Amino acid sequence: GSAVSTVHAAEIERTFIAIKPDGVQRGLISEIISRFERKGYKLVAIKILTPTKEFAMLHYDDLKERPFFNGLCDFLSSGPVVAMVWEGQGVVKYGRKLIGATSPHNSEPGTIRGDLAISVGRNIIHGSDGPETAKNEINLWFKPEELVDYGLDSEKWLYEP
Ligand code: UDP
Ligand code: MG
Repeated sequence: GSAVSTVHAAEIERTFIAIKPDGVQRGLISEIISRFERKGYKLVAIKILTPTKEFAMLHYDDLKERPFFNGLCDFLSSGPVVAMVWEGQGVVKYGRKLIGATSPHNSEPGTIRGDLAISVGRNIIHGSDGPETAKNEINLWFKPEELVDYGLDSEKWLYEP
């Protein structure tokens, strides 16, 4: 597309974000999407599904030795999850900032978990913890054709040339 998106193409990254069953049941889908959207990130994939427990175990595979693993996977597969891919400069790291610390006891006010959650096991949202994890999680949750490439007119107001 435009000169602007070409200049920044190398810095644009994607992250996997999921609203967990507690966030969906508590009516926080639009609140959470709105925080990413207002920041300036671009939504490139979205769907709602109830993952199987086996799928949840794949998603959280790196935590399989932790005592909370089984309960965590039971919970993630207990109801609908909103799975998304968000795109933008620095979205992996800054997305984690928007989300806040893992335990809402430690999440700062102004963050999603700080403002909207109380318990670590009911912290309403998942976000990839680094660029490699992001690629793996996007591949796990989405087929390539589910990711939509498009330009936003607002990009010229969000990024310097
Ligand atoms: N979790 C938990 N108890 C803990 C640590 C984590 O129930 O002591 C849950 C929590 O919901 C967290 C998820 O396991 O979001 C994945 O843990 P991770 O350390 O990857 O935290 P995150 O990346 O989600 O901040
Ligand atoms: Mg994590």
